[in-house]
Amino acid sequence: MKEKFIQFMQGRYGVDTLNNHALFLVIALFVINIFFNNRIVMLFGYLIWFIVIYRMFSRQTYKRYQENEKYLTAIKPVQQFFNLQKKRMSDRSHKYYRCPSCKQMVRLPKGKGKIIVTCPSCHHKFEKRT
Ligand SMILES: [Zn+2]
Repeated sequence: MKEKFIQFMQGRYGVDTLNNHALFLVIALFVINIFFNNRIVMLFGYLIWFIVIYRMFSRQTYKRYQENEKYLTAIKPVQQFFNLQKKRMSDRSHKYYRCPSCKQMVRLPKGKGKIIVTCPSCHHKFEKRT
């Protein structure tokens, strides 16, 4: 049985970030819909589910790969935002800023007052209060 499944999946695309997130969205939609029981939401959920399954078993792996890459590029700012929040929450003795010129993340010690920051990557100077 397991061998048959492996054989079946050979050359097929499988799971990626886009599929994972889409599946999560489907579950979220269905859970929310327990309270609203909306037919359109239900249909929308099934539609996404169908797309996820289609992508998983697709043999056009390159196309699927490109879709995933596009998705990853699209959500990158969102992920960066959450990563920054996580860092800020876990590290209370430093402040995190982005260089206004090259967007490189710089970490500054807290409580030093107004300081001139030199970006480690592009050497742009900017003022920050820590
Ligand atoms: Zn910079």
